[in-house]
Amino acid sequence: MLNSVRLRLTLLYVLIFGALLGVFSLSLYALIRKDAHDRFDAALTKAARTVANLFHHEMIENGHVEIVATAHAIREYQQPNLFLAIFRDDRLLDANHIQNVESVDRHPAATAAKDFLAQAVARHDPILTTIAGIGLGEWRLVAYAPGGESAEYVIVVAESGRDLMDQMRSLRRIFLLSLPAMLLIAGAAGYLLARKSLAPISEMTAQAERISAENLHERLPINNKNDELGRLALVLNELLARIESSLDGMRQFTADASHELRTPLAIIRGEADVALSQDREPDEYRETLAIIQDEARLLSGMVEDMLALARADAGKRRLRKEEFYFNDLIEECVHSARALASNKNLSLNFEPSDDAVFRGDEDLLRRMVVNLLDNAIKYTPDGGSVSVKLWREEGRIKLRVTDNGIGIPAEAAARVFERFYRVDKARSRAEGGSGLGLPIVKWIAEAHQGSVSLESAPERGSSFIVSLPA
Ligand code: ADP
Repeated sequence: MLNSVRLRLTLLYVLIFGALLGVFSLSLYALIRKDAHDRFDAALTKAARTVANLFHHEMIENGHVEIVATAHAIREYQQPNLFLAIFRDDRLLDANHIQNVESVDRHPAATAAKDFLAQAVARHDPILTTIAGIGLGEWRLVAYAPGGESAEYVIVVAESGRDLMDQMRSLRRIFLLSLPAMLLIAGAAGYLLARKSLAPISEMTAQAERISAENLHERLPINNKNDELGRLALVLNELLARIESSLDGMRQFTADASHELRTPLAIIRGEADVALSQDREPDEYRETLAIIQDEARLLSGMVEDMLALARADAGKRRLRKEEFYFNDLIEECVHSARALASNKNLSLNFEPSDDAVFRGDEDLLRRMVVNLLDNAIKYTPDGGSVSVKLWREEGRIKLRVTDNGIGIPAEAAARVFERFYRVDKARSRAEGGSGLGLPIVKWIAEAHQGSVSLESAPERGSSFIVSLPA
């Protein structure tokens, strides 16, 4: 059950709310109770002082006949729930709520008051106390000796706390009943709130469950792209988009690769079938084998390139960085390309950089230079020129391979770095190209945090510029 975030949130909410509500109710109850008791005591004290005043006036009016003054004062202040008594020393003069003075001892308030008379006389200030009357519940009592008379009179006022206790009991009952009710309401509200807040997640889960490789173009619903859940959906959607694009790339790559492999394989098969269909002269076999050899070479070059790119995609080809002289590396590449260039009567120049110590993956960078050089030579007609330049600029090392060959049309320029893309398929094939040379150049440049760009004009030539952080 606690596997549901909704329930866990609700439970936590109810617990926190319950604790807060409990503390609040207890404090409020304590405050109300104290206030009620203070008021109760204040009223009793006030009553004692009033009776004392009345008694004082009655004494004057009645020529200090205490019995009369006592009776008058008590009668005048008479209130149904108040027990009033006036003592002189520890003798009761008069009290209300009694048949006669003798029977007063049976009143618990009067009996209890006797214990406080001496204290009251000593203090001349109202003394408050609680007495537990048998069968009468709790009483609150004030004993007050005002002084100023010829003898010490003590005014005693007492009142049963039953009403107050009843009030407090009702209050407690209200709190005790409302607390669970409020918790129940809070729990229900918390549950609904959690359900509403988490609804987008349920929606996302349901939608994500429906998404598979076949409908990877579908996206998770976004209710509000600025809130946390909206941002989560946005991030997941971006992830889906990346997965979709890489899956598309893989599909495309597989489709293109099979397509590319089909032609040389068809040629090999065709040549072999024809050669084997009847007996032939040795020269004919030789010619057939030469064609098969060419195609096989093309095939292995292509497979090797595909493998390099597949490894790069899988992140398996890590850079093996070491320091080397870039000039030397290019020098070597130019040197090996020279034979090819001279076959076509191409001039091939290299303009080195002053300082070309570089840290990078030498094997990969060599492959990058070879690919660019191969292309320049392939796509430049006889008698043309190819030049390579290396230089430093603003903390970067730059390499430019320029030719004055057939160039690349503007609409193709953006696509030459795509896998298997060729401007002129027949020509590229004839030159032994597979359309993977430039994608490999791009990957190697980017693996070194660099970039490759192209400046080209049809019929005037092309310039590939690689820029790497030095
Ligand atoms: P390929 O194996 O076909 O040469 P690349 O990926 O190396 O494949 O190049 C992609 C395409 O870009 C080539 O087929 C060619 O049409 C064009 N291209 C590349 N380099 C040059 C260049 N120096 N001059 C003209 N076209 C070029």
